[in-house]
This record gives sequence, C-alpha cells and structure tokens, in this order.
Amino acid sequence: MYYPKKFNVGDIVQTKKQHPCGSTEWEVTRVGADFKIKCVGCGRLVMLPRPKFEKSVKKVIKSAMSEDNMDELGHLKEQKEILD
Ligand SMILES: [Zn+2]
Repeated sequence: MYYPKKFNVGDIVQTKKQHPCGSTEWEVTRVGADFKIKCVGCGRLVMLPRPKFEKSVKKVIKSAMSEDNMDELGHLKEQKEILD
C-alpha cells in the first residue's frame, strides 16, 4: 500500500547523490511545487521541482512532524527499493 510522500519544512533527508562537499544530508526549508533544500554539510541552498526532489531523496533521516511519519516513510521506501 503506497501513500504519497509527505515532506515538511525542517525534515532532514538523505539524497542518493553526494553533494560535492561530501554531504548527503539536506534540510528541507521550503515545500510546494518547488522544494528548497539546504545542504547540511556546506549550507548551500538548492531549489528544485518536487518530482525531481522526490526522486533524489533516498530516505528521510529526521522528520519534523512525528516519528510515526518518519517510520512510515522509511518503511515504504525500503519496499519500493526491493520491488525496483
Ligand atoms: Zn554541500
């Protein structure tokens, strides 16, 4: 059973690709049609369309909302990776 992924401002996510600074962790600073994320390693801000953001995210490391939400996202993500 799949739910649309929900991201919130303040979430810390891990991306599949490493930023040139070496970090794979980003803080979500804006959500919507376009997402804005800040590199935890170097503080660089990047704006990208939602679909691209969702594709580049490997997992949510820390959810700004609830632990339940974070667990759910992590669980769904793992299932998807197995199916892929
Ligand atoms: Zn960086």
